[in-house]
Amino acid sequence: MPEPAQLSLNTATVRAQWNLAQCVDGCVRHGIGGIAPWRDKLHEAGVSEGARMIADAGLAVSGLCRGGWYTAEGALTDAVLDDNKRAVDEAVAIGAACLVMVVGGLAEGSKDIAAARAMVEDGLGQTLEYARGAGMPIAIEPLHPMYAADRACVNTMRQALDLCDALDPDASGALGVACDVYHVWWDPELPDQINRAGASRLLAFHICDWLVPTRDLLLDRGMMGDGVIDIAGIRSQVEAAGFSGLNEVEIFSAETWWKRDADDVLTTMVERGRTAS
Ligand code: ZN
Repeated sequence: MPEPAQLSLNTATVRAQWNLAQCVDGCVRHGIGGIAPWRDKLHEAGVSEGARMIADAGLAVSGLCRGGWYTAEGALTDAVLDDNKRAVDEAVAIGAACLVMVVGGLAEGSKDIAAARAMVEDGLGQTLEYARGAGMPIAIEPLHPMYAADRACVNTMRQALDLCDALDPDASGALGVACDVYHVWWDPELPDQINRAGASRLLAFHICDWLVPTRDLLLDRGMMGDGVIDIAGIRSQVEAAGFSGLNEVEIFSAETWWKRDADDVLTTMVERGRTAS
């Protein structure tokens, strides 16, 4: 039962209502311990100004969303690799616990998912080299298989951890996973893969709920307690495996939570943190 100080507000949860400054103030008002900005919100505010306001508010930063998208141009172009370097630099600037990676899906016009996955591994390896120098951990976020074509061809914890083992065999802490319950709750291997990850690879924990029915593949995530995910059960597993970071609340919800008063969203998030997580 996370207390508000153990929660982090992913800015996507109030994306439609608040800018970064409003998110920071909202966290302070509701006693929420951390924040996880998306880069568009951070860019709007200005990276150094955003970093200053987060630090002044005393908030932890559970992650920066997001780097990756290695397949966007069908090859690992300088533009793709440079943008990932910038994402690393921005994560450092705001003192993020990790840079979260949504790796990209199939290249446009391609049916070759093996090629996409190879491109992702190559790209992650290159970003990892840069991120090691900057001291910024990289967290691969496996996405639910329904996003394999258009968002991320890394779809399970096992796949993400296999990449970690290949690219960072010493489990140095430089590379790990972001475990988002929305993407992985259904996986029969989840408990085993959480244990396999352990403290050195579990870099972020994202929570929300899976609604039945789900009306939109991207923008209909539920508030904790409104769906079918055993969030408390999964949280216990990641904590037993050594994760001690914040519970980051990330809810894309065009028709429900993005239409509510943002303070009501945070009030509900704090309450459901206590009762449904
Ligand atoms: Zn997530």
